[in-house]
Amino acid sequence: MSNRSITPNLASYEVWFLTGSQELYGEETLQQVAEQSRAVADALSAAANVPVTIVWKPVLKGSDAIRRTALEINAADNVIGVIAWMHTFSPAKMWIAGLDALRKPLLHLHTQANVELPWADIDFDFMNLNQAAHGDREFGYIQSRLGVARKTVVGHVSNPAVLASIATWSRAAAGWAASRSLKLARFGDNMRFVAVTEGDKTEAELRFGVQVNTWGVNELADAVAAVAEADIDDLVAEYEASYEVAAELRVSGERHQSLRDGAAIELGLRSFLEAGGFSAFTTSFEDLGQLKQLPGLAVQRLMADGYGFGAEGDWKTAILVRVANVMGAGLPGGASLMEDYTYHLTPGEEKVLGAHMLEVSPSLTTSKPSLEIHPLGIGGKDDPVRLVFTADSGPAVVVALSDMRDRFRLVANVVENVPLDAPMPNLPVGRAVWKPAPDFATSAAAWLIAGAAHHTVMSTAVDIEVFRDWAEMSGTELLVIDESTTIREFQKEVRWNAAYYRLAQGI
Ligand code: MN
Repeated sequence: MSNRSITPNLASYEVWFLTGSQELYGEETLQQVAEQSRAVADALSAAANVPVTIVWKPVLKGSDAIRRTALEINAADNVIGVIAWMHTFSPAKMWIAGLDALRKPLLHLHTQANVELPWADIDFDFMNLNQAAHGDREFGYIQSRLGVARKTVVGHVSNPAVLASIATWSRAAAGWAASRSLKLARFGDNMRFVAVTEGDKTEAELRFGVQVNTWGVNELADAVAAVAEADIDDLVAEYEASYEVAAELRVSGERHQSLRDGAAIELGLRSFLEAGGFSAFTTSFEDLGQLKQLPGLAVQRLMADGYGFGAEGDWKTAILVRVANVMGAGLPGGASLMEDYTYHLTPGEEKVLGAHMLEVSPSLTTSKPSLEIHPLGIGGKDDPVRLVFTADSGPAVVVALSDMRDRFRLVANVVENVPLDAPMPNLPVGRAVWKPAPDFATSAAAWLIAGAAHHTVMSTAVDIEVFRDWAEMSGTELLVIDESTTIREFQKEVRWNAAYYRLAQGI
């Protein structure tokens, strides 16, 4: 991570731990409730994989306090979610006003203080104190009756699976906070005549909180022209230290000016994005104005620093790249724009080769990329500089966002990045080769049936569960293609979803 990273430190985000009870039990029991719920919150705080700061709050015993707490949570930008546990029995009408007001992600933790039943010692005082088994059912009822979106996690906090689910949800909540505050700059419009990169930007601001707006590319070109030569010198030195720089691009090389032009584009882009508070952007090879090259190297490095990006004006994929960067903060791996490009179709060995013209994030590799210059037939500008590498082998996920007219649809495929069968010395771009789950034919057919986009975000840092939680938080349809997918069931899910999402919108 460079010192220009805009990936947040997730520990700076708070998740409030709320405990429900009621006055009925008396002071002594409520004191035990407080102590035990604090111990649960402390266990979450101590869990190394839970990336956010868990903040325990005093036990809630009435409607007014619950509603006020919800309003406080809504108003605090650094509070990205709520974990709620009904330690005893918290009559759920007390939660109606609060849950109705709450506008942040909710996790219902169904747990209890003890692991084992104290068979020999149990008496009715113990039963009175430890009744989440039905207290949480009362809470589940009111959440379902109100239609509250939430994640339900069941088990003792000493169980690693419970902590893993909470960690995953915390990352999704951070991704949701990032999209709610995301400002996205488009330089130029969508690629002409392309359908799937279009979409309703007004609806996107309502659903995801993302502000999507367009700037003339020559405003970016002006920022590039304003870059100081000394800053270009410094950045070129950073390139030399970070990458295997092709001889022709080095200071003494015959094409060094092209590297300086690429550095100027990076510096100009950064200054424009920083000045506007943008954390995602798009470019268009059909609209490069006074820019000397299609931004390649610059875009690659900005994605690795946490920015969202979509090519050809694809602002929906740019949102996903930003969200994936935030959700994966601090984890090995990264997130990148990706595009299914071409296939290896040997039966039983089918693979997808993914890449883009230039713009694949080097966060997908732990090896040292090479910095090269090659012709680009598209765009009609100078040859662009770019980083060339192969994504690390290992598990990954690709996720696409389509506008289906009445709703947005996420489609996600669990994949495995694999080594190249042989070197590809003549392919001068960042790339990944993967095997999709459950198998190539099912994956591709399901993808096409879903009408999912050809641009995706590939994440090698987070798994499908994080996107599931993010989809739940954002109320977005998610179709998952994984080990359990069959075409017959997938087709049914697509049809049922069409009915469900239309009905869920009301009349
Ligand atoms: Mn493309």
